[in-house]
Amino acid sequence: MPDEAPGDLAGPSRPGPLATAQAQLASAISQLGYDEGMHAMLATPRREINVAIPLRRDDGRTELFHGFRVQHNVSRGPGKGGLRFHPSVDVDEVRALAMWMTWKCAVVELPYGGAKGGVAIDPRYYSAGELERVTRRYTSEIMPMIGPERDIMAPDIGTDAATMAWVMDTYSVNRGYTIPGVVTGKPLEVGGSLGRATATSRGVVHSTRAALAEGGRKLDEVSVAVQGFGKVGAHAADFFDDAGARVEAVSDQYGAIHSSRGLHVQRVMEHVRETGSVVGYPDADPIDNAQLLALDVDVLVPAAVEGVLTADNAGDVRARWVVEGANGPTTPDADAILADRGVVVVPDILANAGGVVVSYFEWVQAQQAYWWTEPEIEARLAERMQIAYDAVAQMARTRDVSLRDGALLIGVQRVATAHRTRGLYP
Ligand code: GLU
Repeated sequence: MPDEAPGDLAGPSRPGPLATAQAQLASAISQLGYDEGMHAMLATPRREINVAIPLRRDDGRTELFHGFRVQHNVSRGPGKGGLRFHPSVDVDEVRALAMWMTWKCAVVELPYGGAKGGVAIDPRYYSAGELERVTRRYTSEIMPMIGPERDIMAPDIGTDAATMAWVMDTYSVNRGYTIPGVVTGKPLEVGGSLGRATATSRGVVHSTRAALAEGGRKLDEVSVAVQGFGKVGAHAADFFDDAGARVEAVSDQYGAIHSSRGLHVQRVMEHVRETGSVVGYPDADPIDNAQLLALDVDVLVPAAVEGVLTADNAGDVRARWVVEGANGPTTPDADAILADRGVVVVPDILANAGGVVVSYFEWVQAQQAYWWTEPEIEARLAERMQIAYDAVAQMARTRDVSLRDGALLIGVQRVATAHRTRGLYP
């Protein structure tokens, strides 16, 4: 059995998210005993597009950006995955994120494959009008590849409901009629779903609750540190606070804050609305990001970007549970160190799947033009997360592996089964 991805499969030249994703796949393939042909197929994106996006700046200058859309796998249904605006986006990162979407959708049993898009831009430095033009040009460049039955976008880092409205509008205007199902995470006014904006965070809390229960613990008796106070981390911190957990620390790209008494998360959110950062929040001490990751708390939630827990700092983690709100925050080396030290890692493709679950609910609602109530959505999300957690935990127990491996084995197996059942054409 090969223990690494075949050499001609666009493997990364530098360690990064694609190396992590490929190493995870290689390990799952060898545990499942699949052959090299299956490995090669699952290691290679089905389709990719690479587009140049010229932007007319507000001051009249022109600037060029690079954008990507990768459909990793579409065997179980249309591609599904977010659109990221971040300066470090490159094709390898988008490939990794697309692969994780494939396993994630399979783990929570959505009828989707995996896809991801990205534009290498720092949205903090561009006006709303400029971001709208970038979004519309990007959408128009990738038009042939997307659609409600082909590939469905959603928000990710640096994009939001407004971005999705521009994508939907550009796509719809070009097709000649309104097609809400081409994106999820839309504003409610144009076919979005109740509960979508906070769904990833709710899912993080559901999966934490399930993991704690296995260790005989409850949310209202644990302390939590959340790295990243964006769309996922801020709401997760808020829901942890609501559930009675003591949120001791949070951070953003500017710094971190800590209070051993617990933070009043709503007040931290207010401070962020006023100042743009958690830094300077009065009822807490400033700490740095490395200190946050090493805090003596029960639960650590990395909810920012990839590759924050590495061989260099995994040994410092004192939390007993790491719940991955972000995609790919833990490298394989760090995973091994955490496992040795008895830290339970609830993996990204399970822990943060709440977002894509409610994306699926939104897509189903849009296809039927019939909208559900918020309690219905919350209840169905909670149920799906519990079912997925139980399946992963069961797989991990049966094979005596980590939750990460359990989740990957389920995801990879479901996708491989779809391949085999459909057969090869021609
Ligand atoms: N960007 C989110 C993720 O990484 C959501 C994707 C979606 O809803 O399609 O899971």
